[in-house]
Amino acid sequence: MGGQPTQLSQQPQGKGRVRNYPVTEQASPQASAGPAPATARGAATEADVIVVGAGPSGSTTAYYLAQAGLDVLVLEKSRFPREKVCGDGLTPRAVKTLVAMGVPISEDDGWLRNKGLRVIGAGMRLELDWPELTSYPGYGLVRTRMDFDQRLAERAREAGARVIEGVNVTGPVRDDRTGRIVGVTARPEGGEQQVYRARLVIAADGNSSRLSVAMGLTKRDDRPIGVAVRAYYTSPRHDDDYLESWLDLWDGDRQLPGYGWIFGMGDGTSNIGLGLLNTSGAFGNTDYRALLKRWLAGMPGEWGFTDENRVGPVRGAALPMAFNRTPAYADGLLLVGDAAGMINPFNGEGIAYAMESGEIAARVVTQALAWPDAAGTERVLHGYPRVLADAYGGYYALGRAFVKAIGRPELMRFATRHAMSRPALMRFALKLLANLTDPRGDASDRLINAMTKLAPAR
Ligand SMILES: Cc1cc2nc3c(=O)[nH]c(=O)nc-3n(C[C@H](O)[C@H](O)[C@H](O)COP(=O)(O)OP(=O)(O)OC[C@H]3O[C@@H](n4cnc5c(N)ncnc54)[C@H](O)[C@@H]3O)c2cc1C
Repeated sequence: MGGQPTQLSQQPQGKGRVRNYPVTEQASPQASAGPAPATARGAATEADVIVVGAGPSGSTTAYYLAQAGLDVLVLEKSRFPREKVCGDGLTPRAVKTLVAMGVPISEDDGWLRNKGLRVIGAGMRLELDWPELTSYPGYGLVRTRMDFDQRLAERAREAGARVIEGVNVTGPVRDDRTGRIVGVTARPEGGEQQVYRARLVIAADGNSSRLSVAMGLTKRDDRPIGVAVRAYYTSPRHDDDYLESWLDLWDGDRQLPGYGWIFGMGDGTSNIGLGLLNTSGAFGNTDYRALLKRWLAGMPGEWGFTDENRVGPVRGAALPMAFNRTPAYADGLLLVGDAAGMINPFNGEGIAYAMESGEIAARVVTQALAWPDAAGTERVLHGYPRVLADAYGGYYALGRAFVKAIGRPELMRFATRHAMSRPALMRFALKLLANLTDPRGDASDRLINAMTKLAPAR
């Protein structure tokens, strides 16, 4: 389609290095002024760092921490392989993070590559290839979270992290005097509750992040959040080599609130979903499953998106965006991924940001724990939110303005109509929405980078 819009007919353990640590049953008075001292090791319940959750953010954090020689214990409540509600779509940004971790991503390994994004809106269809850049690969991927997360957890294990499945973290263990987290309580499957201790605890437990909430870190009302549902359908469109995004959804000639996606999984099914942002008036009073059904009822019959072809139930979850939970470090607890509300507000992509924040967190923690004194460690850890703000703050600020604007249906309609008939503008929009630019790229890269720098990073 060469980037030209076309009219639609229908509106449509590992090794855990063994070192000699002094055993501390309780945080000492001195330690309670800052991070706990090095903990007992070898012991299954002690480590330098405990990571709660082995989703993309937790496994990536653990991988980089273990690579740096730290003893890392990852506690994951489920057992792999396990389902996670997601669109399963990976942009070149996410591909880059996988490549950096040495995850094998060949098509022989079961990954489906895509060339770009097909955008459908205002009665038009536009295929936009991923931009040609030096900083990111020119392709995206699709893989079901059923085993995507397992692969990342295996990479963390290969690097030396102890990833323990079937252990549900039930709460923080806090130092009586300072309130600082010095470990967690957790219940292994079928076992008794235990205490696990570490110098630092990382919350990688996803959107609801019970651990953060227990430490007083709740979601922010002034930041965007989305809710989306998805299901898998057997379909001849399963091997689509473009991710497909629907900017407007139609029920006959009535426009429905929200946006949708159709991602071919390459395994005989398509992952189809739709979502709404909390800036939309319909956010709190929409039956998402019924909406999905009505939207799919208007699709061409040969695509096969019917109840009979649905594989498994329709499931939904929230997408916390643009630093939805802050601060990302307090009282010995450091947040990564969805726990820190780090989904891109422009496009709902969260895996790349979960993994990138994991890598950033590991870098900060490695330096922090190398300080010989607790005060130095604490100072470096307190710098983590600033490092995140430098990396994403300006971009997320633009994203917040964007979601506010598209919350107004008439503005969204106007923007879709005007942009869809201008492929050059849509190519610019793709770079902006997917956060894909080179530092010294072409004029559009430089414009996006300048906008990001000028926006207030909070
Ligand atoms: C419908 C939907 C569609 C989406 N589509 C896409 C997409 O196409 N592409 C994309 O990039 N992003 C997408 N996202 C966002 C993406 O799924 C998240 O951003 C991403 O999963 C965040 O990773 P995470 O590791 O921070 O958290 P999670 O993936 O949520 O992982 C958290 C882990 O912590 C574990 N855990 C939780 N509580 C405990 C506990 N108490 N004890 C021990 N373990 C615990 C969980 O079992 C889980 O394994 C979508 C989200 C939704 C809801």
